[in-house]
Amino acid sequence: MGEVETVSGRIDAADLGRTLGHEHLRSSSETVRFNFPHLYDEAEEEQIAVEAVEKAMSHGVKTIVDPACMDLSRDVGLAQRVVEKTGIQLVMCTGIYGSHYTFIPHYFENRGPEAMVDAFVHDIEQGIQGTEVKAAFLKCAVDEPGITEHVDKVLRACAETSKQTGRPIMAHSHPGTRRGLEIMDVFDEEGIDPSMVQIAHTGDTDDLDYIEELLQRGPFIGMDRYGLDIYLPTAQRNATVIALVERGHADRMTLSHDACATIDWFPREMIGQMVPDWHMGFIFESVLPALHEAGVTEEQTEAMLGDNVHRWLIP
Ligand SMILES: [Zn+2]
Repeated sequence: MGEVETVSGRIDAADLGRTLGHEHLRSSSETVRFNFPHLYDEAEEEQIAVEAVEKAMSHGVKTIVDPACMDLSRDVGLAQRVVEKTGIQLVMCTGIYGSHYTFIPHYFENRGPEAMVDAFVHDIEQGIQGTEVKAAFLKCAVDEPGITEHVDKVLRACAETSKQTGRPIMAHSHPGTRRGLEIMDVFDEEGIDPSMVQIAHTGDTDDLDYIEELLQRGPFIGMDRYGLDIYLPTAQRNATVIALVERGHADRMTLSHDACATIDWFPREMIGQMVPDWHMGFIFESVLPALHEAGVTEEQTEAMLGDNVHRWLIP
């Protein structure tokens, strides 16, 4: 199948093993962190990230894909330290999340799309943030506000970079507003092979008609927010995955939590109360037994935690 770039260098697809396709070592506001670093305890954040990764590894996970990009505090230094301490195979990306899923900074606003493409290609070919760690894929985000002018620029820059470098794309989506279909419209216009696209957060809905319509367009879909019951409770996430397996789509889904070892969007104690199941072990402890009980085979769940992610990651 080929090789993929990780924090510790290129790894053969055959060595990726059990993989969580969408987790974060950290999510935080870059603007707040840069201006008020005293609000953050970097050593404590690193320790919590190490513990989160170790929990996943205790369930046999060998590889974690972390789609942190611009606006999510992507930090290659943190990634390198966590990799060194845990031995996890960590896959990083390049791209832009977009402030409030709407805006890009003036730097990119007032330059042509090639400025963004150049930045992305740099991360893929030269390395991220002054290191030799290379981005393995592209990330963009379309949420409830839709494909604004700025978001459109990011999507098309990701598409152009993908065409230049052969790297796949992950798009954050808001299935409640059927954004996955609009995202596919843009990538179709740009001539992107749909199997190089993963529509993240598709598992936030149990609208099977929407998901079927999206799958017909050819992307992989992320059932990747297990434990985030505030968007959709686990039982409904499971029922959706089971129904899609019954309809023959076990080879198009990825399973993950979108867990953030630390996230500054809310006070920490509030997160623990809001989403107690939101951690990198939840799928193994609670989801897989329920899926298997309902007749989903181990081979199918392992594909969703392995081969499906790998086939998207290494087109
Ligand atoms: Zn995420």
